[in-house]
Amino acid sequence: MPDVVVIGGGVIGLSIAWELANNGSTVRVLEQGTFGREASWAGAGMLPPGNLALARTPEARLRGATHAQWPDWAASLESLTGIEIGYHRCGGVEVRLPEWPNASELPGLISSLRSEGVIVETDDVAEVRRRIPTLATDLAAAFSMPEFCQVRNPRYLAALQAGCEMRGVELIAGAPVRQVEVTGNRIESVRAAGDEHRAAEFVIAGGAWSGEFLRQIGIHLPIEPLKGQIVLLQANPLPFRSVIQVGREYLVPRSDGRILVGSTEERSGFDKRTTARAVNDLIGFARRVVPDLADATFEKCWAGLRPYSNTGQPFIGRLPQFVNACVAAGHFRYGLHLSPVTALLIRQVLLGQPVLLPEECHVPGF
Ligand SMILES: Cc1cc2nc3c(=O)[nH]c(=O)nc-3n(C[C@H](O)[C@H](O)[C@H](O)COP(=O)(O)OP(=O)(O)OC[C@H]3O[C@@H](n4cnc5c(N)ncnc54)[C@H](O)[C@@H]3O)c2cc1C
Repeated sequence: MPDVVVIGGGVIGLSIAWELANNGSTVRVLEQGTFGREASWAGAGMLPPGNLALARTPEARLRGATHAQWPDWAASLESLTGIEIGYHRCGGVEVRLPEWPNASELPGLISSLRSEGVIVETDDVAEVRRRIPTLATDLAAAFSMPEFCQVRNPRYLAALQAGCEMRGVELIAGAPVRQVEVTGNRIESVRAAGDEHRAAEFVIAGGAWSGEFLRQIGIHLPIEPLKGQIVLLQANPLPFRSVIQVGREYLVPRSDGRILVGSTEERSGFDKRTTARAVNDLIGFARRVVPDLADATFEKCWAGLRPYSNTGQPFIGRLPQFVNACVAAGHFRYGLHLSPVTALLIRQVLLGQPVLLPEECHVPGF
């Protein structure tokens, strides 16, 4: 019997398994489909900067802690597995165009980032355009963040999976957990694909499916799927090397000339189909922000289901209803970025160690 059974093999479940295995626990991960092929594969891999020392909100504390972890986290995965995950500091700019009414929000955003100790290098539009000359000529506002990073998430997931296997984690695909055997306030076992899995501790890391899963054991955490579509373009040479964000839409350049254009936010249940409207809008957005992209090649498009929580924060920590179960879900737009800190916090909770962010590990007892 393993020490821990993790339910869900996305970036969150695999990161927790990797972290626990590195700290001496035996771990089994049950994945209903294929490991790392849901939201974690579909994401864009943006890793925005943060600074724990000066962070004041729960969101900023999680972002700051994970930002500090990423360099060592990526290096240890790469050195063990030999898989290059494309983690690097590419820089990022936030821009606004005249037709977007919210250019006036940038000064507030800049001062909030600066008060957190995040470097905002310049907020001079002309200077941002000098650095990225392919940007639209009529920007209304812009600023740059040199510490912005990115990761190639499909490679990151491959490395996590390989790292887990090398550390002896049992990875079982095609194992949908549908039944949970409970005695009082203890989970005894779960059943998946006809097999019973017992463990001392259980971790629910089922992404967008977590709300539905938890309801069957009487827990009502507000986690639901929110679809995001992405268009992949190819442009050689790359017209820019930094991430370009325009509020909730963005362009993420990869070193091989690919550019991810994202993304929508759609309530359509568990439907992952792409639509002509979204693809058209995303391409229009890309061309408006970087006009040269009119000549880019269209490679493909896809959609993923973000685990959205209306609290604005993921649920990380012990479920108050059980003595041996944790949840790590609801990371919405930031699960790739927050995977190292989530794994750290769950490891600290499960192994009875001092918890870095105790307030962020409080799961309400709905
Ligand atoms: C278009 C898009 C762009 C994004 N961009 C970024 C970004 O730039 N940066 C960032 O940090 N984040 C980004 N995200 C968000 C990020 O992808 C998610 O927050 C993250 O992947 C969530 O990870 P997860 O492991 O919780 O969920 P998932 O990756 O969905 O994994 C959950 C897994 O659990 C399995 N599962 C569920 N229920 C069960 C069950 N009962 N039994 C067994 N297995 C089960 C599922 O099959 C799935 O594989 C983006 C997401 C999308 C869709």
